[in-house]
Amino acid sequence: METIVQKFGGTSIGRPERMINVAKIVQKTLAEEKKVAVVLSAMSGGVKIEGTTSNLMKAANEAILGGSYYKIIDLLENNHLETVEKTVIDPAIKETLVDELKIEFKKLKSFLDAIHVIGEISPRSMDVIVSMGEKLSARIFTDVLNSRGIDAIYYNLEDIIDQPFKEVDQNFCYYIQKKLRALLLKAGAKVPIITGFFGFVPGGILKSIGRGYTDFTAALVATATLATELQIWKEVDGIFTSDPKKVEAARVLASISPEEALELTYYGSEVIHPFTMEQVANANIPMRIKNTFNPDLPGTIIDPSGKTNYQKGATAATVKRGVTLINIQSNRMLMAYGFMHKVFEIFAKHEVIIDLVATSEVNISLTLDSDENILDALPELEKLGNVEVRKDMAIISLIGLGMRHFVGIASEMFTRLSEHGINIEAISQGSSEINISCVINDQQSDKALRAVHEMLVD
Ligand code: ASP
Ligand code: MG
Repeated sequence: METIVQKFGGTSIGRPERMINVAKIVQKTLAEEKKVAVVLSAMSGGVKIEGTTSNLMKAANEAILGGSYYKIIDLLENNHLETVEKTVIDPAIKETLVDELKIEFKKLKSFLDAIHVIGEISPRSMDVIVSMGEKLSARIFTDVLNSRGIDAIYYNLEDIIDQPFKEVDQNFCYYIQKKLRALLLKAGAKVPIITGFFGFVPGGILKSIGRGYTDFTAALVATATLATELQIWKEVDGIFTSDPKKVEAARVLASISPEEALELTYYGSEVIHPFTMEQVANANIPMRIKNTFNPDLPGTIIDPSGKTNYQKGATAATVKRGVTLINIQSNRMLMAYGFMHKVFEIFAKHEVIIDLVATSEVNISLTLDSDENILDALPELEKLGNVEVRKDMAIISLIGLGMRHFVGIASEMFTRLSEHGINIEAISQGSSEINISCVINDQQSDKALRAVHEMLVD
């Protein structure tokens, strides 16, 4: 029997009617004679900053500062209880669940009181608070299904790691996969409803994995259960050829390779958490992006098998905004070795993350996502040569496996940019030929995106 892992994002389950909609999606998949495992994110009404996770983080900070954290928790409690009221049909199931949730909220308040007294928070304590979001959504959804006659079982992964780890590496992933496999076997014919949160992650889940960790959990569940497909349900029809909000002609891609999807995720289109792809692609599990508001559409499949016929030429165009460009010009670079090493060493020492790099004999250009620590690094860089820092730049990229060994794509990209009066400040293309990127002025990024996207349409 095929196993499908379905991960639902916070917005997809953020309101009572949406949660019922998701229950129907699960029900329909089960009716197709498939085994289903569900991984849930925390409920979110719409915008991420107003979602449960963000509110829990806000409450934690308010507790440290002595602010009104009870108010935030009360709002969350009302919101979740209202969801239970409107989604759990069976009165007996509902009553037990409401009692259980009230106790959870009480415990959370006591925990925050303790944080308030201590006046600081460890990564582990922050995780305890943040984990509440996925515990609530998964616990509620389990009973939404149970009260509709679908046998579901709740899995809270907050204690799944029972030995110390130093970092999130492949060993760590193998360990969790093994634990998950053993745990989920016990579900038998029941549908497991799994919290997107798992712990305790070395260094804390927010720091080591980051927001959006539920995708990663779903990937681990998919590899642990040898799933036929991992479905990431969001509020978009799939992965687009470009940002549909900016480019009217953008369309949904039927399929895309993991390499392309990774490049797209990295370059600004927040589609999937990057760690996710690595896990499922290595295990050869296809991943499908689907829209909960439009469930009958096929979505986009990210297919690691290589069987899919990828598009010729470029697949997608994307822009990453608000980057900083650094130029280092030095005659000392000429015929010398170790120069680049020195440059990168300085950036590493100051924990500055470098993105794109372009070099000539006397010049090296780099872009940074954030210029947070650059001021500290500048005096040392200036010892190496003349340094120019330019803020408010953007990187426009063409992505596509089909660009490999295909002549004329870069030249067409440059021509289109120049025809629209867009100056290219730096260019980069790795020899994998899957990404051609140009650094431009941020103010021109929308125009550039539309100009370059025309290449995907013509
Ligand atoms: N709920 C968490 C967040 O908002 C994790 C997730 O959605 O994957 O970041
Ligand atoms: Mg999310």
